[in-house]
Amino acid sequence: MINKGVRIAIIGGGASGIMAAITAARSGASVIIYEHKDSLANKILITGNGKCNFSNLRMESSCFHSSTDKDGRTGRILDKFSVKDCIDFFESIGVRHRERKGGIYPYTDTAETVRSALLLELKSLDVSIVCDCGKLVIGDDRSILADITESDRRKKRAKRQYDRIIISCGGCVSPKTGSDGSGYELLRSLDVPLTPIYPALTPLIVKEDLSLLKGIRCDARLCLLREDGSLAESSSGELQPYDKGLSGICAMDISGQACRIMGDGKRAYAEVDFFPVMTDDEFKAELNRRIRLYPERKLNELLTGLFAKKLINYLVHPIDTRRDGYIDKLCDNVKHHRYELSPEMLKDFSRAQTIAGGVPLSAVDDNCMLYGHEGIYVAGELLDSDGVCGGYNLHFAWATGMLAGCHAAGYLNA
Ligand SMILES: Cc1cc2nc3c(=O)[nH]c(=O)nc-3n(C[C@H](O)[C@H](O)[C@H](O)COP(=O)(O)OP(=O)(O)OC[C@H]3O[C@@H](n4cnc5c(N)ncnc54)[C@H](O)[C@@H]3O)c2cc1C
Repeated sequence: MINKGVRIAIIGGGASGIMAAITAARSGASVIIYEHKDSLANKILITGNGKCNFSNLRMESSCFHSSTDKDGRTGRILDKFSVKDCIDFFESIGVRHRERKGGIYPYTDTAETVRSALLLELKSLDVSIVCDCGKLVIGDDRSILADITESDRRKKRAKRQYDRIIISCGGCVSPKTGSDGSGYELLRSLDVPLTPIYPALTPLIVKEDLSLLKGIRCDARLCLLREDGSLAESSSGELQPYDKGLSGICAMDISGQACRIMGDGKRAYAEVDFFPVMTDDEFKAELNRRIRLYPERKLNELLTGLFAKKLINYLVHPIDTRRDGYIDKLCDNVKHHRYELSPEMLKDFSRAQTIAGGVPLSAVDDNCMLYGHEGIYVAGELLDSDGVCGGYNLHFAWATGMLAGCHAAGYLNA
């Protein structure tokens, strides 16, 4: 039985909040969204470089990180909202999709399409929207105190009570779009425990000055190492060094885990393999072959054709070819180049795309309802689960929004 007439308030009108609203309203609930900006879904517009990579064909829990997922919670969430469910949902609101290297995008390749279709669906379902809602206060009786615009367009502070509340405020990256960290304050006001929050999907900041490498792009493999040398994470793809560190998808993918390690007060290192297409032995053999073929050439000349000039200069710079073992040293430089990461990263949210940490997954049930807070749910980025680049974070926002909206409306209890 669908629980008709349940009054649901959703705090935060981004990806997860809108999905929660649509799901709950489709189940017959009476839904209101409180949004503190003057419009909804602003962040969606900047996702995927304006193209909105909203899901991925390879949707696996191994693509997510969390320090509080001890029992496979992320996997269970993804099981309940698969890629097919996601594509079907967007089809149901009129958004045709296209696929690029596994990533799912709107067919139009513009994020505006996704936003517009979501807003049209909210309108069709008669979801109430309160923008510019001011600083909200959640009461013990599931009431919300907010700025409401009256029919004469005057604002007044009003308190309303709800059957269910879904908190979907996003984290604190991209404050211009509305995710300014105030969601954490709301959760603290409810005594919800939070794990430390760090930037994720952000460039790695290293202690070494990398100005010499600025501007190059190369394929690389990255290993994130703990201070005892053990492997914490690895990734491959295009690396884009800049003066202060390493950017590019492969660097961003390991950044959240790097912050978690440094946040525990430990050192973290990124080991870069600048030539991942060969093993160490193959690389040394190739170098020896070139030395035999061109005995008169200098080391940097021998590497021409394998690396960009700037990278060659950087890699051969400390090598003395008159010394024994210089080939081993060069191989180390090329394939095991180790950078110590800077704890500066922990505080720099300015270029992050998501957050590591937040509401522990162990603090919510499989429907995202907070333990000890009957009828209060958390969805999206506020939860301690961050995906790698490629549509995973939006998928997680849709999935948790759907689960919270569905359960809040009583549908899953039927
Ligand atoms: C530059 C950039 C590019 C990205 N690209 C991609 C991509 O291509 N694919 C992908 O999967 N992910 C991408 N992401 C990540 C993705 O955007 C987020 O994971 C996702 O938007 C999180 O959804 P959410 O609903 O939790 O939060 P948000 O989408 O941030 O929505 C939160 C909403 O809550 C509102 N709000 C906040 N606090 C309050 C409050 N106190 N009261 C009322 N309202 C409040 C905000 O104004 C906002 O509207 C990108 C992120 C960035 C910054």
